[in-house]
Amino acid sequence: MIKVQNFLKAIKNSFFNERWTCNCCGREIFSGYFCAECLKSVEKIGENKCEHCGRKTAFKTQYCDSCKDKNLNFDLARSVYVYDNPLSYVIQNFKYNNAKYHAEFFAGEMANVYLEEDLSCDIITFVPMHPKRLKKRSYNQAELLAKELSKILNVQLVDCLQKVKDTKNQAKLSRDERIKNLSDSFKVDKNLVKNKAVLLVDDVLTTGSTADTVSKVLIKAGAEKVRVLTLASVSKFVKED
Ligand SMILES: [Zn+2]
Ligand SMILES: [Zn+2]
Repeated sequence: MIKVQNFLKAIKNSFFNERWTCNCCGREIFSGYFCAECLKSVEKIGENKCEHCGRKTAFKTQYCDSCKDKNLNFDLARSVYVYDNPLSYVIQNFKYNNAKYHAEFFAGEMANVYLEEDLSCDIITFVPMHPKRLKKRSYNQAELLAKELSKILNVQLVDCLQKVKDTKNQAKLSRDERIKNLSDSFKVDKNLVKNKAVLLVDDVLTTGSTADTVSKVLIKAGAEKVRVLTLASVSKFVKED
């Protein structure tokens, strides 16, 4: 009985801890997800963005420095936040430290962007993880976001992609090396995407090569178009070569 009571107490505590402390700095708050102080530094992407890749820019623009001349395979991309401190710490925790509970709140914010930007699609899918990595980390944060988003928007979630090649860390590679490294590393079930408008979900848009490569695979498999929705995107021009 005591064990049960302790268990219930632990659940109650974790519930209240999640609700009543800032999910970024841990400071006590009375409402909201982040405290007022953190909110000042957690920046949502507004009007001033690249219409194509969705990154924050100094002025509203059709194509930004990081996506012009690239002939990207997705129709357009949008993100909720600028990827920067302190939010990046929260996203890192969500990704690597089992803080799966963030998925619900973040997906809610992504759903707002989906509706505001009219990203309407037939199906939702997500950037997959290689089975070896998935086993190590036990969950795929992009899948968690996509699942929640599908529930909120009532759009079908389709698990149609597979990562078949364990690509090494892309961060230090040049654009050409990244593309080479990524090509052939994703497989898709054609029957699930043919003639569909696909919403591709991921956590962060950094260089954009992953979103671009997966979009290419989806288009090649017969998808009508691909729109990308990520939680955050890196705003500064990403030099890739
Ligand atoms: Zn805070
Ligand atoms: Zn752009």
